[in-house]
Amino acid sequence: MAIKRIRCHCGGKSFCKLCRGTGKYDYDPGPMGYMPFRCPTCEGQRTLADDDDARFPCPTCKGDGTVDPAHPPPAGMLDVLTKILFGA
Ligand SMILES: [Zn+2]
Ligand SMILES: [Zn+2]
Repeated sequence: MAIKRIRCHCGGKSFCKLCRGTGKYDYDPGPMGYMPFRCPTCEGQRTLADDDDARFPCPTCKGDGTVDPAHPPPAGMLDVLTKILFGA
């Protein structure tokens, strides 16, 4: 079985339990292929609480509660964003 490296929607948040801040996670497609799974960061709750207890949409699943490995974020989006934000 070939384990794939899938880009994480969070873009590399340190609190992301899926990619642990690396921006990518390992996924084993298995016999059924790519199957959506429950988001480990928000545990399917769709939102997270910050230090002030304010709720915000979970970046790992984009507020869906599930992660679909068949639809990772577009390639290069993070690079483009980084260039815009930091002028690299
Ligand atoms: Zn992530
Ligand atoms: Zn989530």
